[in-house]
Amino acid sequence: MNANLFSRLFDDLDDAARTAIETLDGRRITYDDLIAFSGRLANVLVARGIKPGDRVAVQVEKTVPNLVLYLAALRAGAVYLPLNPAYTLNELGYFITDAEPALVVCDPYKAEGIKTIAAKVGARVETLGADGKGSLTEAATAAKPEFITVVRASDDLAAILYTSGTTGRSKGAMLTHDNLASNACSLVDCWRFTDKDVLIHALPIYHTHGLFVASNVTLFARTSMIFLPKFDPDLVIRLMARATVLMGVPTFYIRLLQNPALTKDSTRHMRLFISGSAPLLAETHREWSARTGHAVLERYGMTETGMNTSNPYEGDRVPGAVGHALPGVSVRVTDPETGKELPHEAIGMIEVKGPNVFKGYWRMPEKTRAEFRNDGFFITGDIGKIDDKDYVHILGRGTDLVISGGLNVYPKEVESEIDALPGVVETAVIGVPHTDFGEGVTAVVVRDKSADLDEAKVLGALEGRLAKFKMPKRVIFVDELPRNAMGKVQKNILRDTYASLYKTG
Ligand code: AMP
Repeated sequence: MNANLFSRLFDDLDDAARTAIETLDGRRITYDDLIAFSGRLANVLVARGIKPGDRVAVQVEKTVPNLVLYLAALRAGAVYLPLNPAYTLNELGYFITDAEPALVVCDPYKAEGIKTIAAKVGARVETLGADGKGSLTEAATAAKPEFITVVRASDDLAAILYTSGTTGRSKGAMLTHDNLASNACSLVDCWRFTDKDVLIHALPIYHTHGLFVASNVTLFARTSMIFLPKFDPDLVIRLMARATVLMGVPTFYIRLLQNPALTKDSTRHMRLFISGSAPLLAETHREWSARTGHAVLERYGMTETGMNTSNPYEGDRVPGAVGHALPGVSVRVTDPETGKELPHEAIGMIEVKGPNVFKGYWRMPEKTRAEFRNDGFFITGDIGKIDDKDYVHILGRGTDLVISGGLNVYPKEVESEIDALPGVVETAVIGVPHTDFGEGVTAVVVRDKSADLDEAKVLGALEGRLAKFKMPKRVIFVDELPRNAMGKVQKNILRDTYASLYKTG
């Protein structure tokens, strides 16, 4: 059997005339079209000298040809390496030198700059623009659609995705054909996808969420997706009238809630709302249920592992929890120092093991060794607990843990208390260097424009609710928290901003 993800996706297709992708301009791309177009592009890749195992780095806008290029790279046996279009030339220099791709595909207007970098590692450069035009698609028009998908073993690399790198250098997570196939198949089952579904695809496709979760699940389920270049709340609400599933980051849900058109009626046709990539506030979860009658299904995953846990399809979708381990995935919580497994309810390091867990960091054998236990568990870097009902709770990244006066303060615990105060929109709690305490607990708060809230009022309200060592030393108000494209709060930026807060003299 060919373990190539492409073969696993398409070999036993029974109705190739079915729509796979709909675009905003009304085009319908069938499964047949995807096979033919990916065949043409795979022929172009091979003609450009791409061999199995070669990296194909892609920094382009989200378009259908971009998604088909991912499928073509799989077919050619290459390793697909998507890059956020927002990266600057300087940042690209790092990725290209590190990954040494054989080919870089970029927007035509970036080609000149990228050629200089690509030349250093002997990579070719081809173009693909936001309008779908470029040297690559031009060559594909003249290429044959027939292509025999290259045979790959389940353990061969299908993709490298660089981690967002909020601490230290970004690392290339090596994902195998089996990592991606097993995870997508499991999600199709857990989330009850069928060929009757219509997914609103509003996520970027350079990240695991939009590329692997959204696209692979859709294709494995033989269903269709409405492919949006970016998230637009008005449009998403309009599309809900004929769609069934939305996958989003928490920011999508927050922005949709701000829209008066979001009602029980406008979401009536929808079957499922899924959230992940960053914590969904329990309050957002509750507000969503009250407004729409749907409980958001929150799940937890990461670039290195794909999806690890999910709230149940049937059963309680618990606000603030990320659900149970997916079938075949083991999740445990350990003492970060000793690696010893901790009992239910105890807070520690979340570790995972399963067919979804990546093969290691590209050309970083030591870093890889350091992040795996001897028994194969991957140390996620997330701090959390497993409750008595086996629901996993994430309390934040280990690197965001605040150690004040030698005691651990889990930011989420303080954030939840502050978020519950009237007039608070959201909070980020960080540790900032402090002469007496090592780190001072610091709360950065966004408040409602009309809220009558100041530092003294927040501190007064927390009095008696939090142990003294967890109390913020300062509460700072800001208009908004810095976030990356996936909606994650960038605490590293906040720590830099307030680094001198407690410095005296
Ligand atoms: P990334 O590799 O960019 O997908 O980021 C993965 C990280 O995002 C995880 O290690 C978690 O810290 C965080 N994350 C993902 N999903 C959730 C979630 N549902 N709740 C809280 N944090 C999450």
